[in-house]
Amino acid sequence: MMATRAKKPRRPILKKPSNPSLRDPVGVYCRVRPLSRPDQECCIEVISDTTVQMHPPDGYRIFRNGEYRETQYSFKEVFGTLVVQKKVFDVVAKPLVEDLIRGKNGLLFTYGVTGSGKTHTMTGSPGDGGLLPRCLDMIFNSIGPFQAKRFVFKLDDKNGVDVQCEVDALLERQKRDVMPVPKPTPGKRQIDPEIADMINVQDQCKVEEVDEDNVYCVFVSYIEIYNNYIYDLLEEAPFDPIKPKPPQSKILREDQNHNMYVTGCTEVEVKSTEEAFEVFWRGQKKRRIANTQLNRESSRSHSVFIIKLAQAPLDADGDKVLQEKEQITLSQLSLVDLAGSERTNRTKAEGNRLREAGNINQSLMTLRTCIEVLRENQMYGLNKMVPYRDSKLTHLFKNYFDGEGKVRMIVCVNPKAEDYEESLQVMRFAEMTQEVEVARPVDRPLCGLTPGRRFRNQAFQEELSRKLEMRGGPVDAETEEQSVLETILQNFPPLPACELLDINDDQTLPKLIEVLEKRHKLRQMLIKEFSKAVLTFKTMLQEFDCSVASKENYIKGRLSEKEKTIAGQKTEIERLEKKIKTLEYKIEILEKTATIYEEDKRNLQQELESKSQKLQRQASDKRRLEARFQGMVAETTMKWEKECERRVAAKQLEMQNKLWVKDEKLKQLKAIVTEPKSDKPERPSRERDREKPVQRSVSPSPVPNAPPVRLRHRRSRSAGERWVDHKPPSNLPTETVMQPHVPHAITVAAASEKALAKCDKYMLTHQELASDGEIETKLIKGDVFKTRGGGQAVQFTDIETLKQESPTGRKRRSSPSNPDPPEDAAESEWTDVETRCSVAVEMRAGSALGPGYEHHAQPKRRKP
Ligand code: ADP
Ligand code: MG
Repeated sequence: MMATRAKKPRRPILKKPSNPSLRDPVGVYCRVRPLSRPDQECCIEVISDTTVQMHPPDGYRIFRNGEYRETQYSFKEVFGTLVVQKKVFDVVAKPLVEDLIRGKNGLLFTYGVTGSGKTHTMTGSPGDGGLLPRCLDMIFNSIGPFQAKRFVFKLDDKNGVDVQCEVDALLERQKRDVMPVPKPTPGKRQIDPEIADMINVQDQCKVEEVDEDNVYCVFVSYIEIYNNYIYDLLEEAPFDPIKPKPPQSKILREDQNHNMYVTGCTEVEVKSTEEAFEVFWRGQKKRRIANTQLNRESSRSHSVFIIKLAQAPLDADGDKVLQEKEQITLSQLSLVDLAGSERTNRTKAEGNRLREAGNINQSLMTLRTCIEVLRENQMYGLNKMVPYRDSKLTHLFKNYFDGEGKVRMIVCVNPKAEDYEESLQVMRFAEMTQEVEVARPVDRPLCGLTPGRRFRNQAFQEELSRKLEMRGGPVDAETEEQSVLETILQNFPPLPACELLDINDDQTLPKLIEVLEKRHKLRQMLIKEFSKAVLTFKTMLQEFDCSVASKENYIKGRLSEKEKTIAGQKTEIERLEKKIKTLEYKIEILEKTATIYEEDKRNLQQELESKSQKLQRQASDKRRLEARFQGMVAETTMKWEKECERRVAAKQLEMQNKLWVKDEKLKQLKAIVTEPKSDKPERPSRERDREKPVQRSVSPSPVPNAPPVRLRHRRSRSAGERWVDHKPPSNLPTETVMQPHVPHAITVAAASEKALAKCDKYMLTHQELASDGEIETKLIKGDVFKTRGGGQAVQFTDIETLKQESPTGRKRRSSPSNPDPPEDAAESEWTDVETRCSVAVEMRAGSALGPGYEHHAQPKRRKP
């Protein structure tokens, strides 16, 4: 049992998977030793506090066809070649020692190739102690004054610990002292200078906050695992130099708390660093002797130094150890210097050696496998069996991985090129180990007694001895006790032989009587002395009582004083508390008001927001309506304006025409009335007129005296003719593409006699509103001839009608292959439609037939 109390059976991987926060990964550190010679090729570099980089050496590169790959490995911390032992101890081992003193288990091992610095790190060298002497030093620095007397704690053979009272311990001490077994010599001794050099770590390192109300006791054991056998290096066997007996191998057992222990292993109680290290050194020497005598390869054995720490609370008086087995805590720290991790073929192992080497490798292989399986189980939630039992090494440490405790490993590497491949293996194993988690040990429960017991008891003892000293009493109770006992025994006269062999023997009895009387007297004397001493002690006690009483009184006085001040302070505190309360109340009210105001503010803000939103919406609605309305108004207005204009124009035209027609009629009437009958020009007969249009389309036959019968022309082009182009100013622009073009024309706005006198052709442009609402333009053409009265008359012969239409679904007939359509086709596309009709009418005055007029000169000017 590692810790007798509070360390119940543990199967953490199966039992505690739900609490991963209480698990810590195995702490893996890397230490790089310096090269032996500066000219050696180096293949490992420390690139940061936590990372090393490995690069293949030159030869290796050639071997691998120049393939060059650097690899980096990260650890909790990396110690470079210049890092000193103390630093390694502070970082790696110190927390383990602290845990040990707090009743928790720990395991620290060094791993690496032979020559990589494992032993240097663990044990160190004279003047440069390693982790082991430093751990011991720290332990004794911490618990030194609180150690139990020898044999108060007793380890049993089931990995447990017992406690006994100091008197029993004393008796056992005396019993062992007379036995011929070599014992650790107490008191000041001559230490081996080599050991002194090793443990002289010059480091007053100690654990802060050691429980001073506990009593501590350290036990050490040292074993070696070689060829899968466990040897006790501290076993005291009579050594025969002639025929050395091979050491007996030990077996492993599991205690009731599932911790493994070596049965029958020597466990030495040690009281100081020197003593502990001496024990270690003894084992170390034995190991060396065995190696040489049994022709062993020392680098192929694992050495395990176990430090056990038992601790139990002091009783309520703070004087003696509490005699309760359940109250004892036993924790242990195992320091392991593993065998070289190199593969067997590296050393020239042969025959028996090879078999041994294979086995050693086997235990490291098992360690590797166990770590691998553990890692897999933890990573993937598997429940594979971890093969701890396959080797003694892994079996011994089973509960560190399966149970709880802190596990730390220092990976040692030699950066030399020859070790490259082996170092690679070491690094890979180390990286994998970091991924394994171990359950964090729980804190041991407190014993329930008042703390500070030891200190109070010490104060009392000091006071007592001071008083005794003042009276010339004993200073050191224990030595005094022994010396008194010795004097008494010396003073007691030995009893003479009291066997009566002769009936007449009158000497033996008187002698006996004399001696007995002497003894009686002595006894009486001693009783007197004793009663005297008792009396003195009584008076002393009374005095002590008195002083205690006076001190008590004094203390009481001080106490009442203090109480008064405390009472004053209390009232002050009460007052302040009241004040605080009122202030708090005020704050509360203010806070409430503030919340109300804030609430109001929020509501108002919300209202404001919603109102402004509504307003915005309304404004935008209004804008939209306005726009729509304006658009509508503008449209209607425009439409109406246009309509009105058009109607006005049409009406005007109509009226003008009517007026003009009336004018013309009037003029003609006038002409008929004023003109003599003989002056009348010869007019074509009505019959002829009727026929003319038929002929006209065939060929133009200008007959000078005949009424002008004109061939239909799109535009008049006869060069000799002179035209009067009468365009009333009220006309609107036609916008037709084909505009009537009359060459040599005299354009007039109103009928003019002067113009008629000069011309022989007349054309009136007349506009009127057609039935479909469009404007229709008519070109009314006629011939001018002289009347007999010397005036001019116009005979209308031809009306050309121009009309504008809106395009309604008429498709262009031309195609891209025919970009130049014939004129007729193009013409038919025009939106402006020109309608023509030719008439040959002779208009006589008063005749209401047909659209023929005789246009007389002197037309009246009319306003449009
Ligand atoms: P291992 O135990 O791994 O086989 P050792 O601890 O015996 O290796 O070291 C081999 C040699 O290297 C020893 O002489 C040791 O003094 C030296 N050495 C190892 N580590 C260091 C170091 N960090 N600093 C100085 N010397 C070292
Ligand atoms: Mg070594």
